[in-house]
Amino acid sequence: MADPMPAPPPKSDDRLPYRLRGQLLSSPELALFRALTKMSEGRYVVCPKVALNDIFMIVRPNENVHYFNKIFRKHVDFLLCEPQSMKPAFGVEMVKPIAKSETRTADQFMEDLFLEAGIPLVHVPSAANYVLSDLVNLFQLALTKSNARPRVDSAADSVPMCPVCGRMMVLRIHRDGPQKGKEYYGCMDNPRCPGVVPLR
Ligand SMILES: [Zn+2]
Repeated sequence: MADPMPAPPPKSDDRLPYRLRGQLLSSPELALFRALTKMSEGRYVVCPKVALNDIFMIVRPNENVHYFNKIFRKHVDFLLCEPQSMKPAFGVEMVKPIAKSETRTADQFMEDLFLEAGIPLVHVPSAANYVLSDLVNLFQLALTKSNARPRVDSAADSVPMCPVCGRMMVLRIHRDGPQKGKEYYGCMDNPRCPGVVPLR
């Protein structure tokens, strides 16, 4: 008896709510992109807006979860890569020529991030156009800074292997006993394997 459900009226706009942005780079970014491309002369590929997550990996990720947030959804303005391997060679950040104190903490984190991973980070004050020799000087400065930085001990980057069976170890916490609450490495094959390594 009831009338069949009427078909919903056709929507005026059934498209997904995405539209193309006008351009990938802002005018100051575009000016620096062109200058970097010219300066590289084919020795580097200039990649704009590269996600930090694509450049860096986190060592011992189960111990360093909160470090993920520090790089998640962030990018470096430009990454210069070697053309054959696309291995990163330089990071480039545009900085405001004035009011340097504003973003000091973020700058320092980026600086430490790049330098500790062994790749120079070049800070370029944004300008309408660039003198190539000035850019080269900034790259030299960053390279000198990077070379002065002591290299991290890569042995500490990896999880130890079980001294009993040789399998990978995982971070665990003593549930009870005199060591209660303390972290240690236990064999992934625990409880079948008793292998334990104290935390450094
Ligand atoms: Zn084991």
